[in-house]
Amino acid sequence: MNIKVLTLFPEMFKGFMDASIIKRAQNNKIINIEYLNIRDFASNKHKKVDDYPYGGGAGMVMTPQPFFDAYKNATKHLNNNVRTIYMSPKGKTFNQKLAIDFSKEENLVILCGHYEGIDQRVIDHLVTDEISIGDYVLTGGELPAAVMIDSITRLLPGVLGKSQSFKDETFYSGLLEYPQYTRPKTFNDISVPKVLLSGNHKEIEYWRKHESLKVTLKRRPDLIRKLRLSKEDQKQIEEIKKYLD
Ligand code: SAM
Repeated sequence: MNIKVLTLFPEMFKGFMDASIIKRAQNNKIINIEYLNIRDFASNKHKKVDDYPYGGGAGMVMTPQPFFDAYKNATKHLNNNVRTIYMSPKGKTFNQKLAIDFSKEENLVILCGHYEGIDQRVIDHLVTDEISIGDYVLTGGELPAAVMIDSITRLLPGVLGKSQSFKDETFYSGLLEYPQYTRPKTFNDISVPKVLLSGNHKEIEYWRKHESLKVTLKRRPDLIRKLRLSKEDQKQIEEIKKYLD
């Protein structure tokens, strides 16, 4: 996958993108991330990229010209309908379903705003998806873009080893993940649940499903309501409800 990020602050991605799983995915050429500094594309003498909002109001708005030229450069070898995401608090809230959807694309272009945001003409003419990472306002689109790139990258084939399958993780199945334990068996007199030491895979699988249903029911009943449950799951939920009440 090729990702082109249009940003005023490419240096913000350093560190985060140069460590752990994302670094390995880049080294293994599974993902290629390129940063285009929007300021480099400003055609005015002072490389100014923002201006006062028409109609008045606080703050500055990013001007369209540098975005259009940076975008033209980023997409010159790509077809016209490349998925182009603008990180925006006004966008659709990002979730695992969108991460899976984006992970199927060969190319992505991500636009990061700053100041009071970007001129609406950029959004109307270049953007296919306006995406928010949550109901709060950040200084710029760089952190949101990094969050999104991280979650997309771990879904790409070959990024996670077999032992780290994302299919068991929270949200993939529509449920929150069961509790995880590792060595030692007992720490500060607190032991791990016996079933996990039993070696009985069927019982472990049952326990994990039960715990997943329990934590989801407690914390995110809205997720349970969206699921198509098997008879067995429904039976477990009824049991859980009894002891949670
Ligand atoms: N004036 C804008 C508003 O009220 O909607 C907020 C602009 S914000 C200070 C600057 C930039 O940060 C935005 O253009 C966007 O790219 C990014 N941003 C801020 N919060 C975000 C969020 N929750 N999700 C995605 N991007 C966000």
